[in-house]
Amino acid sequence: MANINHNFLELQGSYLFSEIAKRRTKFIQENPDAQIISLGIGDVTRGLPEAVTKAMHEAVDELAQASSFRGYGPEQGYDFLIQAIIEGDYKSRGIDIQSNEVFVSDGSKCDVGNIQEIFSQDSIVAVQDPVYPVYVDTNVMAGRSGKFNKELNRYENISYLPSSAENQFKPSLPDRKVDLIYLCYPNNPTGMTLTKEELKKWVDYAKENNCIILYDSAYEAYIQEENVPHSIYEIEGAKEVAIEFRSFSKTAGFTGVRCAYTIVPRELKGLDAAGNEILINDLWNRRHTTKFNGVSYVTQRGAAAIYSPEGKAQIAELVDYYMTNAAIIRDGLKSLGLEVFGGVNAPYIWLKTPNGLNSWAFFDKLLSEAHIVGTPGVGFGQSGQGYFRLTAFGSRENTEKAVERIRKMSL
Ligand code: PLP
Repeated sequence: MANINHNFLELQGSYLFSEIAKRRTKFIQENPDAQIISLGIGDVTRGLPEAVTKAMHEAVDELAQASSFRGYGPEQGYDFLIQAIIEGDYKSRGIDIQSNEVFVSDGSKCDVGNIQEIFSQDSIVAVQDPVYPVYVDTNVMAGRSGKFNKELNRYENISYLPSSAENQFKPSLPDRKVDLIYLCYPNNPTGMTLTKEELKKWVDYAKENNCIILYDSAYEAYIQEENVPHSIYEIEGAKEVAIEFRSFSKTAGFTGVRCAYTIVPRELKGLDAAGNEILINDLWNRRHTTKFNGVSYVTQRGAAAIYSPEGKAQIAELVDYYMTNAAIIRDGLKSLGLEVFGGVNAPYIWLKTPNGLNSWAFFDKLLSEAHIVGTPGVGFGQSGQGYFRLTAFGSRENTEKAVERIRKMSL
C-alpha cells in the first residue's frame, strides 16, 4: 500500500458543521412540529441578477453554434472579464492593475486554499482568531501547522492573532517573525472591518518585516461606510506585499455558479534558496496554468454582466436586501441589550453570548427556546468562545420572524 500524506492526520474533524447538524437533527426528532429558522447559513438565498442570467443564456446559445463555439479558454480568464474587473473594481478607485495580474478562478475557497503551495514549506503562517477555517486547514495539509494542542484548541506552529471585543476585533501585529499573514476584511465570522489607516499599519508591517499579506475580500461588496477600504491596493505600496482575493459568490449570488479572481501584483517578490528575487506572479501563473483549465465561458459571461449598468444596479439591490436583514438582526438584538458586532459592512452579525454562556450553550438555548440555528463562535477558533454568528442571508420573512422569537426568549 502507498503511504499517505501524514499531514492530513493532523486535521481536526470538521466538528463545527457536523455537530450543528447533529444537534439540529436531534432537536427535530424530539420536536417534530418545530419550525426551525436557520441563521447559520453562509450561503446566499436570492436568485441570480437578471443581467447575469441573460448574459449566460446568450453565452449558451453562442456555444450551440460551431461558428461561435468556444472550447478551452485562457486559464487566467477571458480578456472581456479581466478588463471588466480592472475597470470596475480597480481603475474606478484609482488603482492600477494590469491584465497579467488578474487570475480568474472557480472560487476564492480554492484560491485562498491553494496559494500557500507556492511558498516555502517552512513559512510561518499567521491567522486571525476567529478565522475562516480554510486558511488553517490548507496549511495543516501542507505540513506547516505542527501538532494540534487540544487544550489550547490551536496548532503549535501557527501564529494566532486574537480578535475579541477587547481589541474591537482588530488584532495586534504579530509578536514573532511570520512570513504569511492571512487577513480577511470585511471579516468572516466577526463582520468587522479596518479603516484605511488601520490597514496601512499591516501593509507597513509587511514591508518592514518581509512578509506577504493574503487579503481575502470575499465580502467587499457589502462595505457601506466611507473610510473602509474596498481593496488593500488602496494603501500605498501594498502591491509590493499583498495578494488580494475576490469572489462573485456573495457579490452576485455565484455560490453555485462559481467564479472568483485573485490579484497577484508583478511587484510582489519572494526569495529562492540562493537568495535571488523571484516574481510571485510568475509562480502563481505557472501553478494556475498547470493545475487549472479555466472557468466556463458561460460563467465568465455571467460574471462580466455584473459590471454592466443593469448588473451594477441589480447587485446593489441584492446587497441592499441582505444588508437590510443585517440591520434588522443587529438593531433587534441591540434593543434587547445584547452586545452586537458586525452587520454594518458585512452580512455577518457577531454577538457576545449573554450571561457568560459559552458558544455551544447559547446554541442549545437558541435552538430550544427560539428554534433558531446559528453558528457557535468557538467553531472558528478559541477566541470565538463566548461569541455567536448569525447571518443575514435568509429571507426577510424568516429574519423578521427570528428576531421576534429572540425577543421572547429569557436572555
Ligand atoms: N473567503 C471567505 C472569508 C468566505 O467566507 C468564503 C465563503 O464562505 C470564501 C472565501 C469562499 O468563496 P467562494 O464561494 O468564492 O469559494
